[in-house]
Amino acid sequence: MSDNDFKEVDDINEETETSAKSSNEGKDGKESEYEDVCFVCRRPESKAGKMFHLPNHISVCEDCMRKTMETVSQFDYQGMFTPGMDGSYFGNPDMTGMYGMPGFSGNAGSDGDENGDGKKSDGSVGGFPRFSFINLANLQGDGGIPNKQKLKKKKKGEAPVIDIKNIPAPHKIKASLDEYVIGQDYAKKVISVAVYNHYKRVATNTMDNIEIEKSNMLMIGPTGSGKTYLVKTLARLLDVPLAIADATSLTEAGYIGDDIESVISKLLAAADNDVERAEKGIVFIDEIDKIAKKANANSRDVSGESVQQGMLKLLEGADVEVPVGASSKGAMVPLATINTRNILFICGGAFPDLEDIIKERLTKNSLIGFGSTLKNAFDKEDVLSKVKVEDIRKFGMIPEFIGRLPIIFTLQGLTKDMMIRILKEPKNAILKQYQKLLELDEVKLDFSDDALEAIADKAMEQDTGARALRSIIEEFMLDIMYEIPKDDNIGTVTITGDYIKGTGGPVIGLRGSETALLEEKRDENE
Ligand code: ADP
Repeated sequence: MSDNDFKEVDDINEETETSAKSSNEGKDGKESEYEDVCFVCRRPESKAGKMFHLPNHISVCEDCMRKTMETVSQFDYQGMFTPGMDGSYFGNPDMTGMYGMPGFSGNAGSDGDENGDGKKSDGSVGGFPRFSFINLANLQGDGGIPNKQKLKKKKKGEAPVIDIKNIPAPHKIKASLDEYVIGQDYAKKVISVAVYNHYKRVATNTMDNIEIEKSNMLMIGPTGSGKTYLVKTLARLLDVPLAIADATSLTEAGYIGDDIESVISKLLAAADNDVERAEKGIVFIDEIDKIAKKANANSRDVSGESVQQGMLKLLEGADVEVPVGASSKGAMVPLATINTRNILFICGGAFPDLEDIIKERLTKNSLIGFGSTLKNAFDKEDVLSKVKVEDIRKFGMIPEFIGRLPIIFTLQGLTKDMMIRILKEPKNAILKQYQKLLELDEVKLDFSDDALEAIADKAMEQDTGARALRSIIEEFMLDIMYEIPKDDNIGTVTITGDYIKGTGGPVIGLRGSETALLEEKRDENE
């Protein structure tokens, strides 16, 4: 294979890429309502995925394009590009658009002398029996194969609940959050105000005249209290891309682990590689307490303090070059420049032992002698909400880092009452999900109040916050989901506290008859 041949193949790539830009555009430049259909396998865009657009309105799906390319690479090119070889192909003036595309040959679907060269083609070109060239002349006229036939599905993107260009007042943002997140009123209030200010700043772009500080946030709360959930809900309501990163996996650039800029690369991927959208997104960095400065560290601290240092410029606003469509920069990966000035950074962490630091400060401030009694008097939750920057600094976060997260707030540990509400109240509450599932089998599912209490009690024991709820319910619902579809007569199922505690069974009601109390012996199934 000569160098020249490589060049030819490269040309195709360039050609397909440039023509892809004009994808789906009708004559008037508007997006066409019809789906593209792959010229080779005839599958529509909705099935075959992204199409390559070749000249003369030919679309080829990625699969067929790849197969073609793979076959091309196995070919013996000797003599391929010499004109006059048994009929028509690359030398054929009709094939200018397909130049270098040996995956196509002859007159697919035609039987005549359409090459205009006087030779009758049999659908194959000498030496390449498996391939047929397409005669582009066929496609230009009215008699061409229609390559657009199906209406495109309407884009699903619903209007965002909260429009960031016209951001509603904080109380409205909080009201939207209330539908999903239970309790945590203070946190929701702080977040609503911060988001309101942030996107107002982004929309009006007043940053240059009077420097309004970025509303980056630091969220402190025990595990399972809804930190990630709050941010996820917010991003969904705002319809902005969200990247969630774990601070523990981040290391200084050049060391094993993800370098800090990889979070921006994740954000770009979440925004479907749309730089403008990514620049208005949210980055959530979880477990931020794990990158606290290590006390007495003798070796170089590549995953603690230096990560904090490395994040400074991102938090403040900087141009970052990130790889597009890959997680690391490599020779062949295209780079995009993203400005982080309008990206909202939210850091979250459980900060264990922070209470002790706060207690120490509080007792120090109180009168000497009363200190010891006061120390025990502080309730755990109360203490955390009294956090000050100096406590976080003492914990091991460097001042420059905390300084770039001006909004600091805490989430409460979940109480039993909150657990019960989380089970049933949010828009997509776990109970509602199971009820919906059984409703499809036309079975009504109920949970008695004592069942909810029993579930909450079990969850409280596990000390992993609301995360425990799902696993507990799943365990009990397994039998129900297994047994109920067996019997068509079952119309209602009520989960009781006894069933959760293991001392009884659910109450099963038969369809169309009086509710019958059937004690289902769990042991039967074991
Ligand atoms: P963490 O604080 O450790 O980030 P998560 O936000 O991941 O905890 O919470 C785990 C799950 O618990 C969430 O997916 C959510 O379903 C549920 N959850 C936690 N807190 C709440 C809450 N306040 N309201 C509703 N659901 C919650």
